[in-house]
Amino acid sequence: MGLFTRRKTVFVDSDVLVIGGGMAGCGATYEARYWGRDLNIVCVEKANIERSGAVAQGLYAINTYMGMQWDENQPEDHVRYARNDLMGLVREDLGYDIARHVDSCVHMFEEWGLPMMRNPETGRYQREGKWQIMIHGESYKPIVAEAARKAATKVYNRIMVTHLLMDKTKAGRVAGAVGFNVRTGDFYVFRATAVIVTAGGASHIYQPRSVGEGMGRTWYAPWSSASAYALPILVGAKMMQMENRIVLTRFKDGYGPVGAYFLHLKTYTENAYGNEYESNWYESTKEIVGDYIDHQPVPTCLRNHAFLEETKAGRGPIRMVTKEAFKDPHLETVGWENFLGMTIAQAVVWASQNIDPKHTNPELTTSEPYVMGSHATCSGAWASGPEDCAPAEYQWGYNRMMTVDGLFGAGDTIGGAAHKFSSGSFAEGRIAAKAAVNYVNDQGNDQPQVSETEYEDLKKAVFQPLENYTIGRNEIVAGTVSPSYLLPLHGLQRLEKIMDEYVGGIGSHYTTNEPLLTRGLELLDMLREDLNFLGAEDLHQLQRAWELKHRLIASESVTHHTMFRKETRWPGYYYRADHPKLDDTNWHCFTLSRFDRESGNWKMEKAPVYHIID
Ligand SMILES: Cc1cc2nc3c(=O)[nH]c(=O)nc-3n(C[C@H](O)[C@H](O)[C@H](O)COP(=O)(O)OP(=O)(O)OC[C@H]3O[C@@H](n4cnc5c(N)ncnc54)[C@H](O)[C@@H]3O)c2cc1C
Repeated sequence: MGLFTRRKTVFVDSDVLVIGGGMAGCGATYEARYWGRDLNIVCVEKANIERSGAVAQGLYAINTYMGMQWDENQPEDHVRYARNDLMGLVREDLGYDIARHVDSCVHMFEEWGLPMMRNPETGRYQREGKWQIMIHGESYKPIVAEAARKAATKVYNRIMVTHLLMDKTKAGRVAGAVGFNVRTGDFYVFRATAVIVTAGGASHIYQPRSVGEGMGRTWYAPWSSASAYALPILVGAKMMQMENRIVLTRFKDGYGPVGAYFLHLKTYTENAYGNEYESNWYESTKEIVGDYIDHQPVPTCLRNHAFLEETKAGRGPIRMVTKEAFKDPHLETVGWENFLGMTIAQAVVWASQNIDPKHTNPELTTSEPYVMGSHATCSGAWASGPEDCAPAEYQWGYNRMMTVDGLFGAGDTIGGAAHKFSSGSFAEGRIAAKAAVNYVNDQGNDQPQVSETEYEDLKKAVFQPLENYTIGRNEIVAGTVSPSYLLPLHGLQRLEKIMDEYVGGIGSHYTTNEPLLTRGLELLDMLREDLNFLGAEDLHQLQRAWELKHRLIASESVTHHTMFRKETRWPGYYYRADHPKLDDTNWHCFTLSRFDRESGNWKMEKAPVYHIID
């Protein structure tokens, strides 16, 4: 008898099911209750929402706050900013929608107890930069989670969602999700009228700079395992801009963030010989991207580009000049606190490497690429826009509904709206939930039905890696290499190597071309076949197995998108060596993909970019 047949199945019914209790998920859960007083609202999370997601460790700044109450910025300004940073390609309707609602979210955080820093002279929130405000944010996530917990009918922690379920009565409509409890091994079938996917971005699809046991230290959270993309992709949701991966300039070895250093401490970078270097690359960058290099602020990818070119020219390492700022005891405190509130590892790395930034200018490096929809890139699902301002082609139903009926998303999940960050992800969760409640109300008695065959088949598939291990383990006499199964870590390393070498990771200087991508896809195909033989020795490894499968699907999507866009739109994030220039004539457009689960084929298309803000 197979292991899976002994496992309990738990059924959970809901009107609105929120998958992932991070910033967007907490926003969605909170808002669903506001509009759906009598609805059954369930949040399911693979960790524990108290400390889950990219904000788990805390943050030192809220990166998106307009300050409309003081007329500091208007939503239109933020759209212009994000559009400029993304080299022209953003969904302006989605960005505008978030920007007009984000301030009220931040005010709620303060009401709920988040300590905000205030400028002693003006009494306003302390600005770090034009968009960022500073917080004492170690407990940011627990504070936000408390609001979601109180709003939810029930939060299910420690359940990894592996698949979405589709309605058996109406094609193309979502009906729920399945997953397993990572502690008890129970199988869960969540039946829902509307589903909101808020399962975070993707780290560890590319080979990280960290190696060996340090591998868990990456910039984006190592537990961000691409479920936000894999779940919708597998049920045929269209994705957008999946080629738009992000590479970050960060302090070396600890991936410590540089925002507070640049913006608040006013530190700056220099090459190994103590010289400013960005101007060296102005002319050559202009040849590649034209006038975009003259835009202010200089787009993030182009600043990375200068960093990479200077390093390739042999004048690295690039350093952050901290010695001057750290003479000021207040700035020195801010510099350290910035890490202690959100990236403790960077402070530990500096201590272990004898780096005191008062005396030594620390090295910077560029990270491996990540896929995400909430930072300075906007990969993710293609979503319907707000009724009052989205162009007709971007509207096919409810706000933030994907191209699958009843399936919504927010935060890293949704593409096209860069620079949401923590506050914008929460705001987008609220926006999606309001629309999802409307959707639920409009369905009336026409409720989706799950198919018993579908979830029973999935139950078998979900636990298969445990079965593979149990059967195959006796073939091993020593070590961990088996002739009949592959461990999740081995599969992950193979995926990262393929992506690194063929799809523009650190090892290939972020550079790729059509032959490399073609071969990369072949290798990813073979990996997919081999993942049928994943072996998991326990429930923890079973979670790793499913995270890997989700990462693989997202990686395939990234590779297809990178192949489709025949230009180098974001030098500094990645380079198509066979199409080395930005090409506004042919590629001032979005790239969309749809995976057909029957045939296993990916269909690519272009979608127009509408500029609704002048
Ligand atoms: C290092 C770092 C620094 C940052 N700095 C800042 C900053 O200074 N200021 C700022 O405003 N923003 C910052 N951000 C950005 C901010 O954290 C993100 O924009 C935000 O967390 C995205 O929200 P989200 O809900 O989409 O994802 P997350 O908050 O990551 O939440 C995703 C949730 O889904 C869960 N999940 C994933 N897969 C599954 C699954 N299969 N089943 C069930 N649950 C699942 C995860 O456990 C997690 O709880 C930073 C991010 C990082 C990583």
